[in-house]
Amino acid sequence: EVTSCDDLSKTPEAEIKKREGFGYVEESPMPDKNCANCNLYLPPKEGQACGGCALFKGPVFEEAYCTYWAPIV
Ligand code: SF4
Repeated sequence: EVTSCDDLSKTPEAEIKKREGFGYVEESPMPDKNCANCNLYLPPKEGQACGGCALFKGPVFEEAYCTYWAPIV
């Protein structure tokens, strides 16, 4: 089964509003900053296709970005 990380059908509306408020975009506008190298990124759990973000619920793309991006420390 192919799961697209933009499927928000199981994500609560309030959580979708949160990511919108953080300026989440599926393609980072910056070549060196994306979810995959953000300190708040949650890698996919076993059996899951998409990772998540510590700031809101729902799947995120590794290539995505938001204004809360933070370097891995
Ligand atoms: Fe991606 Fe933003 Fe979450 Fe970092 S804080 S993982 S850039 S959505």
